[in-house]
Amino acid sequence: MAKVTLKDINKSFPERGGKLKGNEVKVLEDIGLEVKDGEFMVLVGPSGCGKSTLLRLIAGLETTTSGDILIGEENVTYLPPKKRDIAMVFQNYALYPHLNVYDNIAFGLRRMTAGLKASKSSVLPAGLEKMLMKVTETLPKDFHYNSATETHINQKVQKVAELLQLELLLNRLPKDLSGGQKQRVALGRAIARNPQVFLMDEPMSNLDATLRAETRSQIVQLQRQLGITTIYVTHDQVEAMTMGERIAVMNKGKIQQAASPLELYHHPANCFVAGFIGTPPMNFFPVQIDYPLQIVHRQFNFVIPDHWKHYLKENKKKAATLGIRPEHISIGNYSRENLQVKINLIENLGNEIYLFTETLEESPKQVIVRIQGEKIFKIGEKIWLSFNQEKIHLFDRETEQSLLSKVTHFSSV
Ligand code: ADP
Ligand code: MG
Repeated sequence: MAKVTLKDINKSFPERGGKLKGNEVKVLEDIGLEVKDGEFMVLVGPSGCGKSTLLRLIAGLETTTSGDILIGEENVTYLPPKKRDIAMVFQNYALYPHLNVYDNIAFGLRRMTAGLKASKSSVLPAGLEKMLMKVTETLPKDFHYNSATETHINQKVQKVAELLQLELLLNRLPKDLSGGQKQRVALGRAIARNPQVFLMDEPMSNLDATLRAETRSQIVQLQRQLGITTIYVTHDQVEAMTMGERIAVMNKGKIQQAASPLELYHHPANCFVAGFIGTPPMNFFPVQIDYPLQIVHRQFNFVIPDHWKHYLKENKKKAATLGIRPEHISIGNYSRENLQVKINLIENLGNEIYLFTETLEESPKQVIVRIQGEKIFKIGEKIWLSFNQEKIHLFDRETEQSLLSKVTHFSSV
């Protein structure tokens, strides 16, 4: 077990076709991240943002354009994959189709021990061991001669199979397994090697929703039990929020923010993180901040809580973006502080209601509202929305960075 440190990693690929053929395309930019020893770190971001590339760099399956990768204190940037003591679980599981579950799990172990001299742990010369194994192979199982290495591998496989409830499936080929079972075998193969670091690239994307929710908690429990530093890639923010001790949100090849799930939810560093984390997503409005603490929108205005003064004093008459989550809006009355909207769509989930509304401007803007209870609404109905002013977010209109970023730095959730 060890920490993983990424220092200023950049990665470019040559463009493969089209007008820009021959040019370099920047896929990762100035990635800096420290994953603590034993931590469960999730990399999340939209498809194409560079998650898999980053994971493949850590595994040694790609080379960096610049930057350093450390595992523990060792700089592994130029080491081949097998010298990095890492196990990777891929999206498509990559099981060997001609090997049964037992041999798939044992495969990595055999490869690891192949380098060691078999006779090291054995009383017999290696040649004799091999011959004995060959000769007894056709006999009933109890009469097989097993080398010390094979006995050791067998113990490990049995232990992993027990951990992942695969004991009854050890003789099956991958083609006779369900998606969930294949996924557990792929995990088992990684666990058996007892690596310093696990890398998992969307390992659940082939499972249906129910199984995914179940497996989610199994993987988290397993990781806690084993205490192995884990970097887990997903594009699904719910998966990220429920699994990660910390989450690094990525977009366009850059880490936008790395923090605990609650920190990301309460103190997003920029508009991208604010809009990516949370369902339904945060609503945004163009506003102006007027002195001293007035938020002004074409259709509403209010004075924000006094304790924010400290962070906003640089922002007189500033164009900003106001963010408010659907769950921090309630139904209010006619008031200059509130926003009038028209209901377009109602999603009744039983325990809560999502209202998809639009503003009454010339070019209407969608506002999503999430409320508890069983109130009856009608499509086309006009309602007044009231914002929980303690829960608003403010971003610089140009840079999209939080105007309250100082809060993020000093708060601990
Ligand atoms: P993600 O896993 O977040 O969906 P990837 O890391 O797979 O994203 O890809 C990031 C970007 O890098 C994409 O635009 C992809 O097309 C590009 N890319 C990935 N691998 C290569 C490669 N071998 N050659 C050229 N471009 C690549
Ligand atoms: Mg990917």
